[in-house]
Amino acid sequence: MIEQLRNKFAENPESLREYYDNLDKLIESKKDLNAFITYDKKYIDSQVESLIEKAKNNEELGKMFGVAVSIKDNINVKDVRMTCGSKMLEDYVSIYDATVIQKLKQEDCVIVGKVNMDEFAMGSSSETSFFGATKNPVDTKLIPGGSSSGSAASIKAEMAVVSLGTDTGGSSRQPASCCNVVGFMPTYGSISRFGVQSMANTLDEVGILSNNVEDIIDTYNIIAGHDENDMTTVQNEINVEKKQYDFNGKKIAVVDITKYSTDEVVIKEYKEILDILKDLGAQLEEIDFKYLKYANALYNVIVTSEVSSNMSRFDGIRYGYLPEDYSDTRDLFVKVRSEGFGEEVKRRIAMGTFYLASSNDQKVYKQGLKVRKLLSQEFQNIFENYDFVATPTMTALPYELYSRKDDPLAVYDSGIFNVIVNLSGLCAISVPYKSGISTSLQLIAASHDEENLLNAAMAFERR
Ligand code: GLN
Repeated sequence: MIEQLRNKFAENPESLREYYDNLDKLIESKKDLNAFITYDKKYIDSQVESLIEKAKNNEELGKMFGVAVSIKDNINVKDVRMTCGSKMLEDYVSIYDATVIQKLKQEDCVIVGKVNMDEFAMGSSSETSFFGATKNPVDTKLIPGGSSSGSAASIKAEMAVVSLGTDTGGSSRQPASCCNVVGFMPTYGSISRFGVQSMANTLDEVGILSNNVEDIIDTYNIIAGHDENDMTTVQNEINVEKKQYDFNGKKIAVVDITKYSTDEVVIKEYKEILDILKDLGAQLEEIDFKYLKYANALYNVIVTSEVSSNMSRFDGIRYGYLPEDYSDTRDLFVKVRSEGFGEEVKRRIAMGTFYLASSNDQKVYKQGLKVRKLLSQEFQNIFENYDFVATPTMTALPYELYSRKDDPLAVYDSGIFNVIVNLSGLCAISVPYKSGISTSLQLIAASHDEENLLNAAMAFERR
């Protein structure tokens, strides 16, 4: 789709005006979804005019010429507001482009706007956003998933062709599954995080959402690879080649889903998904995980510990909301942080601070690091014998918005197969299986095995 659209626009650049006028009408008509935090037609118009100008000057046109992209609101886009879904950064305007944005702009895309998210990417429902929840375009009563809620909703409602999200423990794959679009998270370090607000540095990744796998591959090839501004990135350039994937002779590890889910629909649809993989020629084998049962607790320890450090920069002086009056610096810090952060963020800061406290020799945190090693080792062993692990993206279908708002554990419940991917440094993709609210296939592959993962996902999707 990216390629066709790009060629169409390159042939007739003036048509971009009409295209974006129509998109503006569509976005206006779907305002109730609350997918955007910052949307400004003037910003789009200025991009469109400079693209038309570029074409007039016979300059070379990029691979995404005119293609509409939405950006999660924790990624810096120069001169555009970046709130991270928080009151803390309600008025913050980015002073530079994240590397991923630079790379997209080089290819002449159009940034449609900044999309809604759970506050500082903490949540799975969009309910923690200071700007109110996003609605699921498939069924507006339901959660759209999170934290990249606006990314998934903007794709499903066709307000963008591609969206950049982030994924620390499922935040690109889980909303993709809720809204029935494709969501991809590459291996740690494949995509630069320079200019992306940190949540938990050892887990954070940029994710890509779209309506099809091919667009994900095209976008990934543009934004992935080494970045001298992010020392955690891979050393090499990345280019995934699109190929026919043959499942014959491939081994896929699958799970006994009844151990992890009580959702009748998920149980039934996961079996149907596995039948498709079998039909495609794959050999399926059920495996048991020794350490999976610790994954959510482990995730909680690691994520909150890293969150508590990362959030310390929001003190009202370096960054963040400034209260009207305060008596001294202590009073300032207290007011900034108690008024600027929402409940879920504060809960995580409190937990992380506790886990990292020297008074108990960081016992819980250190224990967590050990368990993380065991879990990663377990997956390394699995990928010595299997090409992929196939799970449902979520162990339950999306629930009604606000129905579990007072249950802080709700965010961890259905994401067990998501967090293991971040904790173990693997890559994964969520691909819809049928239309409507339904189960998605999550295909997990070994570190840096994106080429096989994405081509296999494309074969499944075509089927
Ligand atoms: N649901 C997870 C959480 O709340 C996912 C977060 C993420 O991937 N950013 O922590």
